Amino acid sequence: MGLGEKSVKNVYIAFGSNIGNRIQNITKAIDLLDSTEGITVIKISSIYETDPIGYIKQDSFLNGVLAIETSLAPLELLEVLQHIEKQLKRERLIHWGPRTIDLDILLYNQTMIKEERLTIPHPRMLERAFVLVPLLEIESDIMMPDGEKARDYLTPSLQQQGIAKVATL
Ligand code: ATP
Ligand code: CA
Ligand code: CA
Repeated sequence: MGLGEKSVKNVYIAFGSNIGNRIQNITKAIDLLDSTEGITVIKISSIYETDPIGYIKQDSFLNGVLAIETSLAPLELLEVLQHIEKQLKRERLIHWGPRTIDLDILLYNQTMIKEERLTIPHPRMLERAFVLVPLLEIESDIMMPDGEKARDYLTPSLQQQGIAKVATL
């Protein structure tokens, strides 16, 4: 790395959508991210659908994980993600409630952050099959900052949270 050159960080982002054209929302969010200066999308997991709870199928989530490279600082990246969430929300004025897109930072290199607006690793990532399964799909050896393998958290009980691969982009 040369003098003055910003170092590039490997970052994993979880995405989810449960209203409108969910695949289109996800595709738009990824395009917006990739066209942001300082962000390059490297890998995109398959899209997973979480088992509908009860008989209400229409509100099910599509989820997945992205690997990006970025020169942005953690809070700068959070601001970009929140801006994209707003941009996508604005296009659907009729609906209120669940979000068209949710973008969460899972891991930022091997950094640990605990600030009011930002906790990394994402505090609930290890309890969610819809996060762990797509993360391990794109990075099977990924380590947590405490030295644990993320893969070791994918227990049989977690695997019973039914998720199904439904698409690839
Ligand atoms: P969950 O965090 O359980 O997935 P959520 O994604 O629905 O819930 P939001 O309403 O989208 O929660 O976000 C609430 C706040 O979480 C955001 O305003 C943001 O400041 C904060 N936050 C803390 N850590 C993170 C992170 N790693 N990634 C994204 N947002 C975070
Ligand atoms: Ca979330
Ligand atoms: Ca969020």
